[in-house]
Amino acid sequence: MIKRRHLIAGNWKMNLDVKESVKLVESIAPHIADLDEVDVLIAPPFTSLGAVNNAIGNSGIKLGAQNMHWEMNGAYTGEISGPMLKEAGCTHVILGHSERRILFKETDDLIDLKVKAAVVQGLIPILCIGETLEERENGKTFDVIKNQLDNSLLYLRKNNAGMPVSTILAYEPVWAIGTGRTASGEQAQEVHHFIRKWIKEEFNDETAARVRILYGGSVNPDNVADLMSQPDIDGGLVGGASLKADLFIKIMHFQNKLL
Ligand code: PEP
Repeated sequence: MIKRRHLIAGNWKMNLDVKESVKLVESIAPHIADLDEVDVLIAPPFTSLGAVNNAIGNSGIKLGAQNMHWEMNGAYTGEISGPMLKEAGCTHVILGHSERRILFKETDDLIDLKVKAAVVQGLIPILCIGETLEERENGKTFDVIKNQLDNSLLYLRKNNAGMPVSTILAYEPVWAIGTGRTASGEQAQEVHHFIRKWIKEEFNDETAARVRILYGGSVNPDNVADLMSQPDIDGGLVGGASLKADLFIKIMHFQNKLL
């Protein structure tokens, strides 16, 4: 059986100036060495990427961006491209976060273009999907998830090479993001299992067994162990709690809490 390494990823959103970003990464870095089979990634704002990359040094922390444009360059005022992110030290990029979908009207079609660009340009996409509270209460969770997967991974579904096994998916129920309301381990597992089944059907067993599926939505030191002990949950995408070194370090060490 293939064992997937957990990934704890911090999405700093539009927070922290350069000095604060460096201070936070310097607080986290010394705590990476004793992790067992757990990877750590941080996604700071664009302005902090270069400085954070330097501060990461050879600690092993991975660097991600929070968004990117699908073109390599051009007249796209205010946007940033994959090659620019790579130059700043990024290996990963978060795509389709619900805040981008809701506040900036990003559609699955557009996210599909970004996923394609990331893969072609050599960045690992962390694709976010998730239902709203209304959709959940109307029993639409699985339809919404399937729809988002079908459409935002359209390029990879049509690509002869399939989906790179390094691709990361993040199930983030919109009702749990920044609300303090978390899906229970059981609720999240149900959706993660559904996503893994979808990967198996669209791609193959090997891809389904290797692709990591993160959970995101008010992850904190108290709920992380329950979530991470689920068979199809391979890590967490952490927003608010990733801005506080002590909380993020505890989340990274979730195994200490496993029974
Ligand atoms: C997120 O923004 O991806 C997230 C999960 O935020 P929070 O942990 O604050 O709910």
